[in-house]
Amino acid sequence: MNWKNDESNTAFQRALQILPGGVNSPVRAWKHMDMDPVIIERANGSKIYDIDGNEYIDYIASYGPLILGHAHPSVVNAIQSAAKRGTTYGSTSLEEIDFCQEILEAFPAMDKIRLVNSGTEATMSAIRLARAYTQRDLILKFEGCYHGHADPFLMKAGSGLLTERIPSSPGVPLSTAQCTLNASFNNFEQVETLFQHHGSHIAAIIVEPFPANMGLLFPKEKFLQMLREITIQYGSLLILDEVISGFRFCYGGLQSIVGIEPDITTLGKIIGGGLPIGAYGGREEIMNLIAPQGSVYQAGTLSGNPIAVAAGRATLMELKNQPTLYDDIQDQTKTLTFGLDTILQNHGIPHILHSYGSVFSLFLTNASSIDDYNDVLKSNETIFSSLFTTLIKRGIMIAPSPYEVSFVSAAHTQLDINNTLISWEEAVTKWKQKINV
Ligand SMILES: *Cc1c(COP(=O)(O)O)cnc(C)c1O
Repeated sequence: MNWKNDESNTAFQRALQILPGGVNSPVRAWKHMDMDPVIIERANGSKIYDIDGNEYIDYIASYGPLILGHAHPSVVNAIQSAAKRGTTYGSTSLEEIDFCQEILEAFPAMDKIRLVNSGTEATMSAIRLARAYTQRDLILKFEGCYHGHADPFLMKAGSGLLTERIPSSPGVPLSTAQCTLNASFNNFEQVETLFQHHGSHIAAIIVEPFPANMGLLFPKEKFLQMLREITIQYGSLLILDEVISGFRFCYGGLQSIVGIEPDITTLGKIIGGGLPIGAYGGREEIMNLIAPQGSVYQAGTLSGNPIAVAAGRATLMELKNQPTLYDDIQDQTKTLTFGLDTILQNHGIPHILHSYGSVFSLFLTNASSIDDYNDVLKSNETIFSSLFTTLIKRGIMIAPSPYEVSFVSAAHTQLDINNTLISWEEAVTKWKQKINV
């Protein structure tokens, strides 16, 4: 296979003239890699294809939604048949009610739910609701967690803000920024101190139970329990942002695996099956504050869109009806991370691999553990971009940032995993030759 990128380069030059940075979302620019992004033509199963005809085994998976892989037949059929019945109604559909009920059954902590159009809408609405319920203004979040691009979340956030080293986005009013407290993930003392000083003004803690927007991190033992207890103690709410983790590790939330009952949960990504959707839900007395039942205003022309709902429902049905699906993707992921670990060890490259279910992330670091944002910042970007370039040219698509996780989907085959490991071996060998010259 002869990799080429003439068509992509020409198209990207056009994109640069008309889109900021040539993209519609910052993580799609390969700004810190040694090459311009390839431009996509289509995708199917575990594979994605660019306009030069190159084929890639895809581990970006659109940054989380595609647990079944690209263009899964059930999802595509559901979308086609929904589209024929109309693309949007401006009134409630039966499918919407069924879909919401299906989600609620998988999330016992949620009594009621509201559909929105993106993860960002879910989190921004969730904190409005938490503020209304508690009649308090402050939000506590963690450095390196990402909760979408709404104003209150853009200080020391993960995802594209970490890749671009944007510590705090311009355009956020100081008064808004001052309402967000930042703590270091896994730092018990810091959370306790913040509550001692500001506890009676904190509306909510918002947290990704396993942060997955600065690589994949794990909470220390009892850390999430402590967040649950301290919020109860101070009358604050706990919002678990499960936009990535919802339906990713089991049929339901990571909250059921870690045994934490949040007051509000936010969802997105997988529940839309690759179409734009988000949701937030929680205890009845809290959710009843939302208009038109209550007066916390939140609305959307396309909320509960019938095509997105159809794609989401089809995805959830596949996840539910394939009892071994979660174990199977976890096994594939283990084979991949074991192989990758062996390759890096054989070449003497210091690293830490974090892996859970079908998600993994590689930190190129000398550190002995990665527990928070500051640990993550010390991982090596130079090695990463060299590895990335070889992987792309060998047909492996990973995110163009050392801070984004990789996703394995149900469409990845054993052959995909084997070929991926062969390419990683080549990428590491090539990098070593380069630095030895
Ligand atoms: C992706 C993500 C969001 C934002 O979702 P969008 O649909 O991109 O707006 C929020 N929270 C978490 C944890 C995410 O991973």
